Amino acid sequence: MQLDYLIVGQGICGTFLSWNLLKEGKSVLVIDSANPYTASKVASGVINPVTGRRIVRTWMIEELLPFAFHSYTQFGDEMNAPLVQQCNVLDFHPTPQMHDAFVQRMSEEKDYLHTASDEEQWQKYFRYNYGIGEVNPCLLVDLQTMLQGWRKKLLHQNILLAETFDCSQLTIDELQNTIHYKNITAQKIIFCDGVAGFDNPYFKMLPYVRTKGEALIANIPGLPRTNIFKQGITIVPWKQDFFWIGSNYIWEYTDAQPTQTFRKKVEEQLNYWLKLPYTIIDHIASERPANIERRPFVGLHPLYKQVGVLNGMGTKGCSLAPYFAHQFAQHLSNQKPIDPLADIKRFTRILSM
Ligand SMILES: Cc1cc2nc3c(=O)[nH]c(=O)nc-3n(C[C@H](O)[C@H](O)[C@H](O)COP(=O)(O)OP(=O)(O)OC[C@H]3O[C@@H](n4cnc5c(N)ncnc54)[C@H](O)[C@@H]3O)c2cc1C
Repeated sequence: MQLDYLIVGQGICGTFLSWNLLKEGKSVLVIDSANPYTASKVASGVINPVTGRRIVRTWMIEELLPFAFHSYTQFGDEMNAPLVQQCNVLDFHPTPQMHDAFVQRMSEEKDYLHTASDEEQWQKYFRYNYGIGEVNPCLLVDLQTMLQGWRKKLLHQNILLAETFDCSQLTIDELQNTIHYKNITAQKIIFCDGVAGFDNPYFKMLPYVRTKGEALIANIPGLPRTNIFKQGITIVPWKQDFFWIGSNYIWEYTDAQPTQTFRKKVEEQLNYWLKLPYTIIDHIASERPANIERRPFVGLHPLYKQVGVLNGMGTKGCSLAPYFAHQFAQHLSNQKPIDPLADIKRFTRILSM
């Protein structure tokens, strides 16, 4: 089998990269092992333009947010399924100090921070005493529909192999400028392998950081699905009638399994904050492909031009992946530049060791 690109992984990165390369008229084959608890499958799908306790604007968000909206809309149109909607975050201030900090930031960050209109309307759902801030606009992406729909389409076109890629069977032919994997010959192989990238022989030197995140999936009858609700934890409209509730950041762990500690903490918070009854129906967890710099890893290996990577999206895959998959596809197809802050050229020295 002769191809332009072999792509390993069909998370958000592999999905957007294969979509973009196919649009450029390239031939691709995607290999994905169908692990049910990957970062992309466990993520809530929120694009929030501000983050952290200091409520600061995230990197490049002025470009990333409209680009993401356009990409998910176009992707959804092609799949006949709406994939993205505006869904603003309502930030319930837990203390007078947090209220004051939000108001202070509001005066400096006028584009995204506002006071929620008609704050009283939420009294029947939540307990709160110090007002509600609104982050507007935020986006909510239906990742489940996107990943499943795209997988189905690739399978239908016979360009997805549902198996584990075995790196020991990969060979690079520098003379012919190709790669070989089993009976496949391709111009290039691109790793969109998420946290498996921590052990990828070509890219494990990149400064990845392991963090685990968990979420509870719950039924909360009567809670409006118009917003994302936040007070320490975040409640996000999820597939069917369910809500996704999370998350945490665990830096030290021995496995990627859900923990009782998280479940207990979230239940305590819900029992205090939420006035409606709820039923937990699932508890999910995954590692995030994060990194020290909080900038993605995009580009071709400095020593092996036939081997590339799109990874390191950390906590922001929903906004970073559409943009950088497009940029990488344009680089591969039309020699357009990759943003130097994302290009793995910045790690030429360590990748050449
Ligand atoms: C709890 C949680 C909540 C999150 N919430 C958000 C959010 O609201 N918004 C946001 O922007 N981001 C969020 N994130 C982060 C986001 O999930 C990631 O940035 C993003 O999903 C990374 O996508 P990816 O395609 O790089 O990796 P992955 O989703 O991990 O995809 C990699 C794919 O490669 C496959 N693969 C790997 N190795 C092989 C192999 N050898 N053979 C075959 N297949 C292989 C895997 O099975 C997987 O399907 C969250 C993450 C977590 C854990």
